[in-house]
Amino acid sequence: MAKCDVCGKNSLLPEKFGAVNVCKVCFMKANGLLWKHQYERYEEAEKQRCNALETVHKHNFPQPVIAAINEFFTNQMNGMLRCDCCGQPVQHLQKLGNVNICKQCFGKINTSAWKETEYEDNNGVEKNREKILKIAIKNGFPPIVVEAINGYFDSKLEKGLIRMLDSHRGQKLKIYETYCVLTTTDNFDIEESSKGYGKALKKSQPKESLISNSTAKSLARSVLTGGIVKAGINLATSAAINVAADAIAPEKAIFKVVKGKYKIDYQEYDSVDYQKAGDGENDVGYIRFRNSNFGGNPAEDIVFIFENNTDKQKAFSEIQQCMNAVKENKKEISKRSQITAQSSSTSVADEILKFKNLLDMGAITQEEFDAKKKELL
Ligand SMILES: [Zn+2]
Ligand SMILES: [Zn+2]
Repeated sequence: MAKCDVCGKNSLLPEKFGAVNVCKVCFMKANGLLWKHQYERYEEAEKQRCNALETVHKHNFPQPVIAAINEFFTNQMNGMLRCDCCGQPVQHLQKLGNVNICKQCFGKINTSAWKETEYEDNNGVEKNREKILKIAIKNGFPPIVVEAINGYFDSKLEKGLIRMLDSHRGQKLKIYETYCVLTTTDNFDIEESSKGYGKALKKSQPKESLISNSTAKSLARSVLTGGIVKAGINLATSAAINVAADAIAPEKAIFKVVKGKYKIDYQEYDSVDYQKAGDGENDVGYIRFRNSNFGGNPAEDIVFIFENNTDKQKAFSEIQQCMNAVKENKKEISKRSQITAQSSSTSVADEILKFKNLLDMGAITQEEFDAKKKELL
């Protein structure tokens, strides 16, 4: 309960203006234009302030109430900031780096949801940057705003990021120049993916390696004696491959699942292969990372599993190129350090030889030579 500062009656839920209370009945008299709200623009607030004050004067509201209502408006107006585009004082500005943009101005460049977009690669960032800058310049936005827009897009660029793949099965693969980041969420169905992956592995088995594999050979022999021989060698071979593939990749294939973000460093995971997804139901493809130090142990393989082939082969060859570049770089570095080691050992030998000559010439004593040699070595 509060006492109305206009009529003096008690009111359960009065309208408040700072410390001033106005009961519903009194407030109705003053609020014909429904002015008690937040104002976006200065002129609008100023206009409504005049209207509201005129009304309360007419109804003979006491001076403290009039002052409180006036303050309701002036507080808002004083709290407004100038838009860096149109120069108008406004409420609710969009912040973009150091600049403020009013709703109206921001609306002009607010296409393609560019502030909500999660970019898949730097190309996407540049595309949107170009588009938004064009609109901003066309609308005559000042250089300070253009700069802020540029700064915003700069902050979205990821160094070394080449591409991001979404499996739409709970995995995302971000490809960088020297590593990948595989994100695996709880949406990733291990059971289903393992089945699909096993099926995809079968498709990818290289025929030569299966035939030369001793298991495959013995399997092939047993199939051949099983009566298919009459059908010809091609059928026998493909039957053998299927059986062998079953032995190597049973229905559910093994791989390592790491929930959350996992960094695949090309120094470590030094081999990558790829199988595209087939057209059948639940047919998936994969990009598989292997560490040669683990000797092809499938339990150590990191696998990105997808069902849509878009961009996947391209991404695979990008990863391969990056891995090769990392390997080349590693070779280059070890070659360079070998050369450095060689040249430093040469110079030590040279130094010792120099002192040996001095010793032979009698310029230094045997003790002096021994001491110098010890120091150099
Ligand atoms: Zn009242
Ligand atoms: Zn503006």
